[in-house]
Amino acid sequence: RRWGITPPLGFAVGAVRHPDRPAVIDERGALSYAELAQRTTRLANGLRDRIPRGTRIGVLCRNHHGPVETIVAAAKLGVDVVLLNTGLSTQQLNDVITEQRVGLLVLDAEFRTHLPDLPEGIDAVLAWTDGTTRHDTLENLIAISSAQRPTRPTRQSRMIVLTSGTTGTPKGARRPDPPGLAPAASILSRVPLRSGERLLVSAPLFHTWGLAAFQLGAVLGATQVMRRKFDPEQALSAAQRNQCTSMFAVPVMLQRILDLPEQIRTKYDHSALRIVVSSGSALPADLATRFQHAFGPVLFNLYGSTEVSWVSIATPQDLRAAPGTAGRPPRGTTVRILGDDGTPVRRGATGRIFVGNDMVFEGYTNGSSRESRDGLMSTGDLGRIDAAGRLFVVGREDDMIISGGENVYPKETEDAIARLPEVSEAAVIGVDDADFGQRLAAFVVLHEEGGLDTERLRERLRDRLSKFAMPRDVVFLDELPRNATGKVVPRELLDRLRS
Ligand code: ATP
Repeated sequence: RRWGITPPLGFAVGAVRHPDRPAVIDERGALSYAELAQRTTRLANGLRDRIPRGTRIGVLCRNHHGPVETIVAAAKLGVDVVLLNTGLSTQQLNDVITEQRVGLLVLDAEFRTHLPDLPEGIDAVLAWTDGTTRHDTLENLIAISSAQRPTRPTRQSRMIVLTSGTTGTPKGARRPDPPGLAPAASILSRVPLRSGERLLVSAPLFHTWGLAAFQLGAVLGATQVMRRKFDPEQALSAAQRNQCTSMFAVPVMLQRILDLPEQIRTKYDHSALRIVVSSGSALPADLATRFQHAFGPVLFNLYGSTEVSWVSIATPQDLRAAPGTAGRPPRGTTVRILGDDGTPVRRGATGRIFVGNDMVFEGYTNGSSRESRDGLMSTGDLGRIDAAGRLFVVGREDDMIISGGENVYPKETEDAIARLPEVSEAAVIGVDDADFGQRLAAFVVLHEEGGLDTERLRERLRDRLSKFAMPRDVVFLDELPRNATGKVVPRELLDRLRS
């Protein structure tokens, strides 16, 4: 049996220990721990008869109290929850809903247009509406349902989190909920979060990272501040207004905060903010440096994935010494860099990152899993460990290209370009090449005053990159195409190259 303290238990403890403390604050106001406990009991009663046996609840929501209440109510019923990525297309959503056996969908009204026809037999409840719809809303169910505590569930509910689908159709990854203390404890072993923290949860809740933030918040008895959409200025003003002590974000959000005009960024007081945690995708070295310059030594970089959970964590000290690092494994985690033959590479050499912890996933919902060796699971990424024991993620295994017989890592070129002062952000991918097998194509967003062209850019890179790591194609864009979790979508970059 697994002992867990995540949402249900964490919130239940909070309802007894600090019933009046706000558990969630969103655009509609604050919900205390006591209110959350009562509302989720009513919601569980209201939902029970609407979930056909053997089916799951799908959640298609932005960050607000609705998905939080749905997850807690589902746990009270012992029903599984599938967290759906709000950036998926209609086709992808329909496929995932059918594949994941969703019987009831809880969704924000704005996503109703993405799903004009729900697959046959699927019921829907609206989580966030403009106030004109009264029927079939969470609010209504909570209002009309019994406040009697539901009977204890006969089984523990599970969370199904989808991978972000940057490399194809999103896959469902099975995780127990509660997942035990391991993920929260491993973060707490390196990030000094305190109980009663006031968290600004900007990372989307449907992604492993936002979900982890939310679970940590429950464990810590925190107040979680949520905004439905990320806007850099609103994030700063929400942090100031609610005196947020920590913020959980993805790198592009930090980038957007730094891109605000200086006079706007400095208008807000962020002196309460002690901890800013970035995860979900690589934190560019240059972004780490600039962020610490503007906000002080508050930044942490968490490296992990839906499948293997946390692999390593960089502290502000690690990031000062080596801005590109993903840090060191948290307590209870082993990281090894293996060569193609499956044996460890020498210190400093690049190889495949394998991880061992008790948090790896149970497998994809389609029955497949990840490669394992000697009890360690492949992360699907390439990396190296420096003399001080710090891990550097060099990129995904699938991204590595062979150009003229040389192994080339697009992320290294990406970092070199992003470090140029004229550049706001960059993405680099491999494309087929008649002469070299493959070559690199760079997509570059310049600062307003940028003024670089292809020749000047390549000139600036010449002393930093080998011939093969040099981008052959350079495309200047106004912004990079990103998915709902802030990851660059390579498929769309290819389209830009061809157009
Ligand atoms: P899909 O497989 O569907 O494309 P995904 O792999 O993007 O989805 P996630 O679990 O969100 O799904 O992404 C995990 C991957 O993101 C990691 O394997 C790694 O490549 C990258 N990543 C996440 N955090 C970091 C980090 N701090 N530093 C470097 N890379 C990171």
